[in-house]
Amino acid sequence: MPSSAVAASAAGLCEFIDASPSPFHVCRTIAEALETDGFVRLDETRAWPGTGGRYYIVRGGSLVAWADPEQAGPFRVVGAHTDSPNLRVKQHPDLTVAGWQLVRLEPYGGAWLNSWLDRELGISGRLSVREGTGLSERLVRIDEPILRVPQLAIHLSEDRRGVTLDPQRHVNAVWGVGSERAAFLDFVAEAAGVDPRAVLGWELMTHDLAPSRVIGAGRDLISAPRLDNQGTCYAGLAAFRAAVENPGDAVPVLAVFDHEEVGSQSDRGAQSELLPTVLERIVLARGGGRAEFLAAVAGSVCASGDMAHATHPNYPERHEPSHGIDINGGPVLKVNQNLRYATDAVGAGAFALACDRAGVPMQRYVHRADLPCGSTIGPMTAARTGMPTVDVGAPQLAMHSAREMMGAADVTAYAAALAAFLAP
Ligand code: ZN
Repeated sequence: MPSSAVAASAAGLCEFIDASPSPFHVCRTIAEALETDGFVRLDETRAWPGTGGRYYIVRGGSLVAWADPEQAGPFRVVGAHTDSPNLRVKQHPDLTVAGWQLVRLEPYGGAWLNSWLDRELGISGRLSVREGTGLSERLVRIDEPILRVPQLAIHLSEDRRGVTLDPQRHVNAVWGVGSERAAFLDFVAEAAGVDPRAVLGWELMTHDLAPSRVIGAGRDLISAPRLDNQGTCYAGLAAFRAAVENPGDAVPVLAVFDHEEVGSQSDRGAQSELLPTVLERIVLARGGGRAEFLAAVAGSVCASGDMAHATHPNYPERHEPSHGIDINGGPVLKVNQNLRYATDAVGAGAFALACDRAGVPMQRYVHRADLPCGSTIGPMTAARTGMPTVDVGAPQLAMHSAREMMGAADVTAYAAALAAFLAP
């Protein structure tokens, strides 16, 4: 059986994920934890305090937190992403076919569509609501099993080997029967306690309602949705909180971004000016100038945390020989010669040192050269900030499935390594 520390962080991760069905909810979950540690939310439209302290900002589904009691740089940054592939609601969602009431959905990011079939799905996201002459934002979350994308019967498939799913036709969800056409958005607005006529915009997505579980005969595995990349959001938050309590020679920063799964190009994605702007404002608020900011960044390092591919027992041939990644084998350093990962020798050294100081083993991942490698926020964060950046992760299986899997002990080891990285 796992140690009590491992069991506690595995349970903590399950709780974090179940509280966070959308990127907006991830930010709220992190913000609630930070506020219990005395962090104060700053407003990007206002001047920031000239004294150091514990602060964070939220921009949509992205959040940046830092603690600078003594100095304004250099920085140690742990980055992650808050979004996960899923099925999202179209602008005119209502559809009736053959007596079924459907909600029109479309894939967000590289969702493994087969994994979304035959699950009881809830809805979450945010609404933009008219208030007087202005707008307010309202988070919404419906945990009732209202939606399901039904699979085709095997007897109706051509060769009984499964069907290729068409993202346009095959992922609409059933939510009722009968000819009376209900308005799905009215239903969501009412669940959020909002007048449906006041809802002017929305980002709504589905989530699997099965709770995250610690599984396996030895209780050493975690079965959950959105491990990519809430596994890192959770471990990064734990690491950040630890580094704030026991800081090293740098300002610890936690930066979690929305929109990684669709390329990060938005006002709040990793390709935006969000992180460099926040870091510059930290220096400016303390009375420093642009020269001090640039000097602080030049001495900074970033760890881009995203999940890594453990060697799959049913497909071992899909992995690079002699670079096997073990579940519960420790944090993973990700290297790609074509810079799908940002890791260079300097960043690799910084993370290896952190693992060493944390007393956890480090594994080295290389993708097969004949398969397309995924990417992370690492290369863009490096390019946007000029910081040496290292891509790291924790091992998992079934990446981009509605239900993913990782090792319980890896949560603790990953958080310990990131904490040591944040407090050099
Ligand atoms: Zn990811």
